[in-house]
Amino acid sequence: MPKILTVGEILVELIATTKGDGFHEPQPLIGPYPSGAPAIFVNQVGRLGGDAAIIGRVGDDNFGHLNIARLARDGIDVSGIEVAQGEVTGCAFVRYREDGSRSFVFTMAQSATAALSITGAGASLMESCDHIHIMGTALSASGMAEVAMEAVVRIKARGGSLSFDPNIRPEILDTPGLRARLDGVLDQTDIFLPSGNELFMLTGARDEASAIRVLLERGIREIVLKRGAEGASHFDADGRTDIAPLTVEEIDPTGAGDCFGGAFVTLRLAGATPFEALRLANAAGARAVTRTGPMEGSSTRAELDRFLADHETDY
Ligand code: ADP
Repeated sequence: MPKILTVGEILVELIATTKGDGFHEPQPLIGPYPSGAPAIFVNQVGRLGGDAAIIGRVGDDNFGHLNIARLARDGIDVSGIEVAQGEVTGCAFVRYREDGSRSFVFTMAQSATAALSITGAGASLMESCDHIHIMGTALSASGMAEVAMEAVVRIKARGGSLSFDPNIRPEILDTPGLRARLDGVLDQTDIFLPSGNELFMLTGARDEASAIRVLLERGIREIVLKRGAEGASHFDADGRTDIAPLTVEEIDPTGAGDCFGGAFVTLRLAGATPFEALRLANAAGARAVTRTGPMEGSSTRAELDRFLADHETDY
């Protein structure tokens, strides 16, 4: 099976145990949970037995080592994670509002991640991996973006493939250079995994069918649209396949899309049909929302099979 590489932020998440808007008074918190969209994605690949690596940068502190230990435990090649002496690992403080939306305090821009650059270990992973998975967040900061774009160029030049999850919030779309980088990656994408409005933000189309047509005409082989609690859809030159959501109690939605993507990409690269990959990815996303902690809900194949056996009767 091809070795999968991703690039980007590795951080910890601390979650307020009370609901409300933001952090205006002392809050009881749980965590630290290992986190960062690319880290969650790659952890899901590893839990399914995929061969994967991540290029990232953490501080020489408990939070950094906690992440490295978790990823290594799940079989990820952590040789591309640089441990920066005297720097700190990024944190995300999260508090849920009563309506289920979230407010965040991030320290990523001040953390070791911000100074990511191409190291010898990173360069050698770009030579040994056959597939690159790009997260839009990795394109939003200059250091990470430079490494991510270099990985895209090198892996595609060797005939490798690319999956892309834009994972982008509208408020960062105006970041200088981001639009051009998103477009540059989209031009090289084989499997595109947008959710919600990202389809429209990146194509300029007004309806779903036009957006999908634009993307297929652009040369993207497969588009997998994540629809949260509504399930997911797959589009390619042969047409469209929908998958109904599994009925679950949503505890913590952070990481669902990353687990979905990790499962879909791993299974497709391992030779599963689009429908089988969609079915298991839909289960990986649904199972992820039932666990507290962004990376805590990533699943092994046995866990997904059991989860499907328990929930698929809902169809
Ligand atoms: P993202 O975090 O990228 O926006 P989504 O929230 O759409 O991703 O979640 C990814 C996938 O996980 C969905 O397409 C669906 O398959 C599954 N999923 C997410 N939330 C739920 C839910 N509440 N119930 C059932 N499945 C869910």
